[in-house]
Amino acid sequence: MSAATLADRLEEVEERLARACQKAGRRREDVLLLAVSKVFPAEAIEEAHALGLREFGENYVQEFEAKAPQVKNLPGARFHFIGHLQSNKSRRATGLFDVVQTVDTPKLARRLHESLNEESAAKSLDIFLEVKLSEEESKHGCAPQDLPALIDAVRALPNLRLRGLMTMPPWNEDPETARPYFQRLHQLAEQHQLTELSMGMSNDLEVAVEEGSTLVRIGTALFGSRKPYLQ
Ligand SMILES: *Cc1c(COP(=O)(O)O)cnc(C)c1O
Repeated sequence: MSAATLADRLEEVEERLARACQKAGRRREDVLLLAVSKVFPAEAIEEAHALGLREFGENYVQEFEAKAPQVKNLPGARFHFIGHLQSNKSRRATGLFDVVQTVDTPKLARRLHESLNEESAAKSLDIFLEVKLSEEESKHGCAPQDLPALIDAVRALPNLRLRGLMTMPPWNEDPETARPYFQRLHQLAEQHQLTELSMGMSNDLEVAVEEGSTLVRIGTALFGSRKPYLQ
């Protein structure tokens, strides 16, 4: 991919974000743009970094392990894990990522906490709790009724800094179908005094910003369409 192509796409995403923020009466700087670089090579992260992007999202521990040596020292870059994390990969994840957005069980939270302790007593990790708001079988995430217990468990683990909630509505061509899920996540966050809301992707970022998103996770609209990742 040429730098010009990525630059054009970034400009378009920034225009969409600016319009959505204006419409919602929000400030652009209150919505973080996470560039979802899964499946794209380390060079795509370097290009995006050169264009000013600093937050990157990855879904697969093994894939990012291969890319990390090339990108981990880019100044100011932060890497978010946004895929499903098996607890037996928690040690590898804490070594690679600054943020894990998909904590969905007390067990996974404890494993992350223990891995951090093994690295160094002072090490901490920003986390989001992934909430499952749809009935789809395949989706991971904590059920809303289990959220209070998960929050209590996480708040008892000093190495984890709980930042907020994350969700992924069922995919639908019509972005309006995501709105009730975003509203529900916002309500849950308010109930638990959490301020960060990771919601909104390429197709529905406007609706997410209108419903209070503080972090949109954008892949396709920045890097183009993806090939499936074969694990
Ligand atoms: C892949 C992915 C994204 C990016 O999706 P796009 O539709 O390509 O913007 C966002 N969030 C999660 C959790 C993902 O897995």
